[in-house]
Amino acid sequence: MTTKKKTNFLCEPQMDVPDGYIMLSGDLEHDSIVNGPGLRAVLWTQGCRQSCPGCQNPETWAEKNAGIRVSIDKVKEELAKLKGQSGITFCGGEPLLQAKACLEIAKYCREELGWNIWSFTGLVYEQIPHDSVAWEFVKELDALIDGPFIQSQRDLTLKFRGSRNQRILYLDHGKIIKQE
Ligand code: SF4
Repeated sequence: MTTKKKTNFLCEPQMDVPDGYIMLSGDLEHDSIVNGPGLRAVLWTQGCRQSCPGCQNPETWAEKNAGIRVSIDKVKEELAKLKGQSGITFCGGEPLLQAKACLEIAKYCREELGWNIWSFTGLVYEQIPHDSVAWEFVKELDALIDGPFIQSQRDLTLKFRGSRNQRILYLDHGKIIKQE
């Protein structure tokens, strides 16, 4: 008997992007203080399958004929030029839809630039399949802000997130070591 692989359509299949490229929904940001601790670079990915009512970035949802295709080498080159950043945050859109590209960039930031790595996801941590490329990316993170934006739980006083269901999960090789 064969067991059916558990998948989550929010991150599987991955977005159809050629190897060596990432689809971005906006310009690379730097010196951001609202997407994690310290001054941070922010990479805005294209594509999201959540359709949260009240989403502030619906233009990031489309997976085709939208966004800007950039080579990962070019992204690394631009990141290397930034001064005084303590980390990078992956925002979206849904970064886990392009987990392979995000993983390569995250490793570069940690290993070559000495930065810490944060990411947002609209998925709930417990629903990310452990045999997926999305999980490989999660294992590289220092923190994951998880969960969709839920308008009825919107709270402007929260640090780094928009609704009360979203958690800041501090991770060590994918394992939660602390949460806010
Ligand atoms: S997960 Fe984020 S980008 Fe996607 S629809 Fe929800 S709020 Fe918008």
